[in-house]
Amino acid sequence: MAKDFEYNYPHPHLLGIEGLNRLDVEQLLALADDYVEFSRQDRKHVDVLKGMTLLNLFFENSTRTQSSFELAGKRLGADVVNMAMQNSSLKKGETLIDTAMTLNAMRPDLLVIRHNASGAVKLLSRKVDCAVINAGDGQHEHPTQALLDALTIRRRLGDLSALRIAICGDIAHSRVARSNVFLLTLLGAEVRLVGPSPLIPKGADEWGAEVYTDMKEGIADCDVVMMLRLQLERMEGAFLPSTREYFHFYGLDREKLKLAKPGALVMHPGPMNRGVEIESAVADNLDRSLITTQVENGVAVRMAVLHTLSRNLLDRRAKQNEVQR
Ligand code: ASP
Repeated sequence: MAKDFEYNYPHPHLLGIEGLNRLDVEQLLALADDYVEFSRQDRKHVDVLKGMTLLNLFFENSTRTQSSFELAGKRLGADVVNMAMQNSSLKKGETLIDTAMTLNAMRPDLLVIRHNASGAVKLLSRKVDCAVINAGDGQHEHPTQALLDALTIRRRLGDLSALRIAICGDIAHSRVARSNVFLLTLLGAEVRLVGPSPLIPKGADEWGAEVYTDMKEGIADCDVVMMLRLQLERMEGAFLPSTREYFHFYGLDREKLKLAKPGALVMHPGPMNRGVEIESAVADNLDRSLITTQVENGVAVRMAVLHTLSRNLLDRRAKQNEVQR
C-alpha cells in the first residue's frame, strides 16, 4: 500500500482548509482514494506509522470523528491513545498551554485535537513539536470533514467544477459549513449557503458562496444538498421560534428535495436530528443519501492526512538532525 507515495505537502499541521491550495488538496484526496479501497480488504493494516504515537485529544464530545481517527491510526500501525479530556486537569485549573506542554513531554508524533474554542487548536500547535490535526475547533473549521465530503462527492459524481452544491441549515454555528465552502469552491464547485437569516453569520456572503434565506430557491437545481445539524448547544437565547417550524421551512423532506436536480444526492455530517433538519425517509433512502458513505470515506481521509503529515514530520526531524550534527 502507498507507503512511498510521491508527495509535496509543505504544511506541518492540518489546522484548516483555509491556507491550503489545490495541489495540497488533490494529493490528500488521491491518497484517500487508495485508502478507501484498502479499507475494504479483510486485513486492513499497514505499518506506515509503526512506532509512532497518536494522541486523540477530544475536549468536546464526539462519536464518529474520534473513532474514525482511532481506526485510521490503528490501520496505519500507530500506537493510539484516546485521552478523555472532558475529565482532564483543565477542570482542576490547568491552562490549555500547560496541558499542551505536559502532553508534548510524552513525545507524541501526531496530535488530533477537538476543542470548543475557535483558534484553540492553532494555539496548541505552536506549543508542541509534533504534527497537529484540527478535529473541529468551535465554529471555525473541521478540515477532515470537508475533505471527506469532497472525496465522497467526487467519487460519486466526478469533477466538482461541474456541480452546484447547497449547504443548508445552521450555517452560523457550523465549522463544517466554513471548511466546506473553502474546499468545495477551491475545487471549482458552485456553492450555496441556505438558512434562516438568524443562522447565517455576518460576512458569509464574502466566503465565496451565494446566500439564500429561502430553502426552496436555495436548493433549486442543485446536484448535492448537504444538510447541517441544528447546533442547539452553541445557541444562547432564542434563534428560532420552534424546531417544528424550522422543519417546515428548512427541514429536507421528500417534497423539497424534488426541487433539486432529478436524482440529487443528500449529505449530512452527523449526528442527525431526524425530523428537525432532515426527514428519515430522505436520510435513509440509499439511492440518494450518501450519509453512510461519508462515514466510510472519513476513515480513509484521516488515514491520508495522518500518513501525509507523518512524512512531513519525519522530513522536518531529519533536517533538524542534520543541522545539529
Ligand atoms: N460532527 C460535526 C462537527 O463536529 C457536525 C455536528 O456536530 O453537527 O462539527
